[in-house]
Formats: sequence, structure tokens, C-alpha cells
Amino acid sequence: EAMPTETEIQQALQKAHQQFRGTKEGKNADYIPYLATVNPNLFGLALVTVEGKVYTVGDATSPFPIESLSKPFTLARLMDEVGAKKVEDKIGVDATGQPFNSIVAIEMNEDHRAGNPLVNAGAITSVSMIPAATPEARWKKLSDNFNDFAGADLPVNQEVYKSETETNTRNQSISALLDSYKVLGSPREQALDLYTRQCSVNVTATQLATMGATLANGGTNPVTGKKVVSPDTARRTLALMATNGLYESTGEWLYQAGVPAKSGVGGGIVAVVPGRYAIAAFSPPLDKAGNSVRSQRAISQVVNSLGDNLYAAT
Ligand code: GLU
Repeated sequence: EAMPTETEIQQALQKAHQQFRGTKEGKNADYIPYLATVNPNLFGLALVTVEGKVYTVGDATSPFPIESLSKPFTLARLMDEVGAKKVEDKIGVDATGQPFNSIVAIEMNEDHRAGNPLVNAGAITSVSMIPAATPEARWKKLSDNFNDFAGADLPVNQEVYKSETETNTRNQSISALLDSYKVLGSPREQALDLYTRQCSVNVTATQLATMGATLANGGTNPVTGKKVVSPDTARRTLALMATNGLYESTGEWLYQAGVPAKSGVGGGIVAVVPGRYAIAAFSPPLDKAGNSVRSQRAISQVVNSLGDNLYAAT
């Protein structure tokens, strides 16, 4: 099918922004104190094509914490470096059917693995498995990887990092449990600290859309031309997003929007149409599952109106 024209894309973004900016449902995340303080009216959309064309509307240049949106990109780095088999064996690649911060999911898993790289346990395991001689070298790899996906230098939001470090008792329990089952690739305090730091990286909707467009483009950043991961890794990462990207409402998301996506509790969502484009949205108020209300509605509408629901025959 032909790519939508520039006017069609711009109009679809504008229409969705106009339609959903007045939506009042949802509530900022508050279990991370910093996130409760972000202006709930912020709302931005960005679409980046595999040709590297960038379209935006609203607050597309407002930085926000990447949170869980860091997970697929670190997973992709890990897969590219150690191979998919190791991720399949040590973490698992099926849906856990449990909330993102589930402890029960680890207990229920036959080998007491995390079960999936896009839940907290799996993301902490992913970070712990990135090959590096020191924690600093491991952090540099994680940070360089985000920057390569985004084609920009993404800074750590120190306030968020501090706020999460002081309050992440649940993630401490998850890492301790994983450690007791000996599934982590490096010491648990280190793995949790780097995981917390990666969640605190600031990103804008435009940068997030570029990160998604790199996956849409088979692992090569379409704006900078840099090859970040292999096409096989990009494809596998997108499949995991399709089955686990939006917490417990992933099935409902796929049913409505028909494209793989990932959300974060900072209010960001990125959705990917393989071979065509990625669209990112940012707006802080979340539904009960932890997904931005405005971002979900806007992205779903744009994707469907541009004829890009992957399950539609035409
Ligand atoms: N840093 C957050 C946590 O670990 C990320 C949660 C998310 O975005 O799902 O709880």
C-alpha cells in the first residue's frame, strides 16, 4: 500500500490532537513522587517515517521520563550482543499475564526466570546481562544505545533518578528474588541501580518516535543512517511489544490499534508500523493499567485513519 501523503499525515496528527486534548480521564502516576508533579495538560504527538521525515503537533519537544519505554531498546541491545537464544533461555519471551511489577510471575515461572523482558523483572535481568567489565561501562552501553536509537543525547533526569531510588522498594524485592534464584548476570544492587537510571532518562515525543522508527526501519536509524541493531533483533523486539507492550491491557490495545507499541508510566507511548513509520505520544494522565489515556486514543486513531492497522486486509 502507498505511504500516506505528507498532508494526510499532518492532518491526521492535528485532528487527533484536537480531538483528544480536552480528554480529562486518567491520572498521573503517583507511586513515583516526581511524576505526580508533571503538568497533566501536556500533550504531544510525533511521527517519524522510515525515510526519516518528521511530523509533530503539540508538546512534541517537552522532555519526560522514558520509564518502561526503555525496556524494548535495552532488550534489543542485549539480543544484538548476546543472541536471541540467550534471551529466550534466561528471561523468556512469553506474556506473564501478570502486572509489570509482579513478584508472583517469578514464583510461578518454572525456572524462576522473569518470563518476559518487558516487565520489571525481565528488564532488570536484561540490564544485568549486558556484557561489560564495570557498571560504568555497562551504563555507557545502555546510554549510548538510547542515544543511537534516538539520534540525540538523552540526559538522565536527576530528580526522577533520586525520587525512584528513594522509593523503589518493590523493585528491590524483585531483584532480591531474582538474585536468590541466580538468574541475574551481575550483582543485584548494580543491576537495579542501572535499571532505575535507565528509567530516569528524559526523552521527547519526537525523539521517542525516532527510536520507534529505527525499529520500523529494521534497526537502522532513518534520520542519522546509523545501524543500531540487526533486522532480526528489530523484528523480535516488535513481536514482544505486540504481546506485552501495554501492561495488562496489551490485548485490548492490539485489538483496537492493531500495531505493536510500548508505554511507560511517564505518559509516553510509541507504536510501530513495520516498514513504514513510528508514532509517539506523550500525555501524563494514565488509565488503571498504567497507560496514557490521550496517547492511546490519539495513536490508535492516527494509525487506523492512515490505514495502517496490521490486521486490516487493505
Ligand atoms: N521505573 C518504573 C518502575 O520500575 C517504570 C514503570 C513503568 O513505566 O512501567 O516501576
